[in-house]
Amino acid sequence: MKTERGEKSEAKPADILRKPGPRRGREHSIRGIPVSPGIAIGTVYDTTEVPTEAPRRTITPDQAEAEKARLAEAVALSRKQLAKLKMRLSVLPEEAQEELAPLLDAYVLMLGNSRLLRGARKRIETELLAAETAVGDEAEAIAALILAARDDDKPGLQRRAGEVREIARRLTRNLTSTPFRSLKGVPEGAILIAEELTPADAALLDPTRIAGVATDEGGADGHTAIMLRALGIPAILGATGLSESAERGDMAVLDGAAGTIVLRPGDKATEKGRAALAAFAKERSKLAKLRRLPAITTDGEHVELQANLEIPAELPLIAQAGAQGIGLLRTEFLFMNREDLPDEEAQLAAYTVVVDAMGGDPVTIRVLDWGGEKDMQALSEGVAPTHSGPNPALGLRGLRLLLKRPELLEAQFAAILRVSERGKIRILLPMVTNPSEVQAAREIYERVARRLRRKGVTLPEKLPELGVMIETPGAALAADAIALEADFFAIGTNDLAMYTLAVDRAEAEVSHLYDSLHPAVLRLMQFATEAALRLRMPVSVCGEMAGNPRLVPLLLGLGIRCLSMNASAIPRVKQAIRALDIADCARFARRVMEQSDPARIHELVLNFGTGTDKG
Ligand code: PEP
Ligand code: MG
Repeated sequence: MKTERGEKSEAKPADILRKPGPRRGREHSIRGIPVSPGIAIGTVYDTTEVPTEAPRRTITPDQAEAEKARLAEAVALSRKQLAKLKMRLSVLPEEAQEELAPLLDAYVLMLGNSRLLRGARKRIETELLAAETAVGDEAEAIAALILAARDDDKPGLQRRAGEVREIARRLTRNLTSTPFRSLKGVPEGAILIAEELTPADAALLDPTRIAGVATDEGGADGHTAIMLRALGIPAILGATGLSESAERGDMAVLDGAAGTIVLRPGDKATEKGRAALAAFAKERSKLAKLRRLPAITTDGEHVELQANLEIPAELPLIAQAGAQGIGLLRTEFLFMNREDLPDEEAQLAAYTVVVDAMGGDPVTIRVLDWGGEKDMQALSEGVAPTHSGPNPALGLRGLRLLLKRPELLEAQFAAILRVSERGKIRILLPMVTNPSEVQAAREIYERVARRLRRKGVTLPEKLPELGVMIETPGAALAADAIALEADFFAIGTNDLAMYTLAVDRAEAEVSHLYDSLHPAVLRLMQFATEAALRLRMPVSVCGEMAGNPRLVPLLLGLGIRCLSMNASAIPRVKQAIRALDIADCARFARRVMEQSDPARIHELVLNFGTGTDKG
């Protein structure tokens, strides 16, 4: 395919779109949501600038309809992206807004009943081209026609041709949204910049190569953020205006804890970045010394600190952090970045690696939590029902999907049961709202165990425990009923906050409203914890709250004695625990739970132990 890459001399519309704001060459600081601590100093690799290398593809006649549907989906997504971009123009300097707004309108028009789309659809039907090939060919044909026009305004013609190619490029990027290509060429030590990074993209990042990540979209407790924290890559998300301001090759200093990125830093900002980098390394080596010390309060109460695992690449980090097992193994990684489903044998192999690496420490394996933002190619392409309903987060997510497609659950239960003799295994069910769902899952579980035993597979006499994620308000308020069906609870504060407050955890636009310390969330946690403790049933917290050292007094005060978090958070949390007294924590939790104003709760948490709170 001939692309704009061949015509270097042309005005590049992407430049007009992305670089209108701060004058090129000037230092420019942008604030985002801090999601993964650490300092990165390096050159920017802006994925939004990647010229899409879509290989030419043809299709068979019976694929034409599906191909047109794919194109329609990419058009819808492109429109959404442009609408968002337009909404956010206000953060850019006025002159940039004036330049950009009409350009965005032109792009949106081209995503309507335009010659580009009509032509692309026709090429799909008549030339049997894949959607991205059809879009590329049609854009080139239109651009050639524009450039051949008899008009003295050559720059104007070039600009119009460039606009057609730019919108084709956005469509192509959305049509070939698998990250395999775009993230492959990232040079070592680069700071990766993107409009948006999916959890599946993040799973492919190599933390030994990538110094940092910053994106325009995303929220603090979305799965992308969780993945970046797990990989220990310094990162900020939700940095509005970033991809418009950055250009590949720019120097940048990113501070993942402060939530800032300075593009094209001057001497002072670079120096400050270097000093912060050295301080971070020093702090880390200090914390590493805590590895062998127990997580025990000053009055002798033991707290179990476990790790959440998103991808097997984290296993060495878990060992380094001194985790006492895995409290949440998110199995979604097995289903990401592939076109088919992992069968029982493939799953067995993956679980075996993890369980063996943990050398007898407990491993809690959560069955697939697909849905919402955790889009997985194999499942979304017709293997399982698509999640693109009006409210994906409220649709067939987690256990709901698995009960609808029991063969998925059966294969996963079977694979987990087959590793159960190798270690201390527990199984966790995601997105439960109803005790009957747990009963239904347990029936399948026991049926699978009977089948395996009949086939001669040796299973432990007592099957691994079956626990429930408490991550919806419904589950939390029905925790007393659900507790009768479950062997243990794991409180998922990420979704619990999202569903309680009706705030998407991965949406930058509403991230200011996402608040795990909102009294509504805390009251639900308290209710669920007490329901478990009354039955002497184990209960842990495995959402992102568990990894925040400031929240440890409150969680211990509520009665929680097991916390599961990203491995790199363990040393800091352990340090906090070792300075606490349980009676103080209980008093503090009572005080917090009397409050109904979120701001007051934040204040109390911030001032815990400082003696500055006048109460
Ligand atoms: C949670 O919701 O808090 C949780 C731990 O699950 P996940 O983040 O995988 O949705
Ligand atoms: Mg969850």
